Amino acid sequence: MFINEVKCKSILNKSGILGIDYAINPYYGCSHKCQYCYAVFMKKFTGHTEPWGEFVDVKVNAPEVLARQIRRLKTRSRISFGTVCDPYQPLELKYQVTRKCLEILAPSRHRVSILTKSAIIVRDAGILRTMHKIRVSFTVTTLDERVRSVFEPAAPPAEKRFNALRTIAQNGIRTSVFVAPVLPYISDSSSAIAGLFRAAKTAGAEYVMFDTLNPYPKVWYNTVRLVKKNFPEKLGSFSSYYTNQKMYQVRLREKISRLADECAMECKFAF
Ligand code: SF4
Repeated sequence: MFINEVKCKSILNKSGILGIDYAINPYYGCSHKCQYCYAVFMKKFTGHTEPWGEFVDVKVNAPEVLARQIRRLKTRSRISFGTVCDPYQPLELKYQVTRKCLEILAPSRHRVSILTKSAIIVRDAGILRTMHKIRVSFTVTTLDERVRSVFEPAAPPAEKRFNALRTIAQNGIRTSVFVAPVLPYISDSSSAIAGLFRAAKTAGAEYVMFDTLNPYPKVWYNTVRLVKKNFPEKLGSFSSYYTNQKMYQVRLREKISRLADECAMECKFAF
């Protein structure tokens, strides 16, 4: 793992994501190493040649840059942590860049959301509790440890994420689960999705949001390679997703809506 301490010029960056005004990514790169991660495009901008998941640049001056930038924000904004990295990846234990940024935002009335796969966020429950309309979303793609270990080799197991979600929810903080991406024909069975709804409900999440796999060339090539190696019996159906994405999404939507009703849990769609 290559770890560099770097200085950033800007940490509050305009976001093109619907519902988010600004993104904060305290790190370049992510040691969770998810094999479907679209943030791999960041390599192009940072000049890294190492494989995705094997480098992290720590933006050590992010808190001071944020303190300066936040003063210039006139209106209440929607600020999201973790659009191209996990703000609570293991290095956060040492560097605390995310925590220091949250301390700066805490007295403001901006609406902050955090997306993570990590239980390290529990460390900051005391700060999160004080923040205006904060929301914490945990990404969980599967309860199946074999699937998780193939596609998210260095991220914590789902059980740890749900335990963390429970603790955050018990602190009175709004929580949700983000199932992204649903891996076609790998993690999309009715029992797999119902299991996620039940786990989310038990842990105290308000709703579960779903997104499908975006087959960017690099992501698609990599996921096909992994399916071929680890789930060869699924290769044919998985590959068909590339050309039948729209039809797949219609059917998935129907299935998820039905299961949400059966589990009495709210669902949302990002696709
Ligand atoms: S946790 Fe998120 S940002 Fe990090 S590798 Fe996984 S998908 Fe990418």
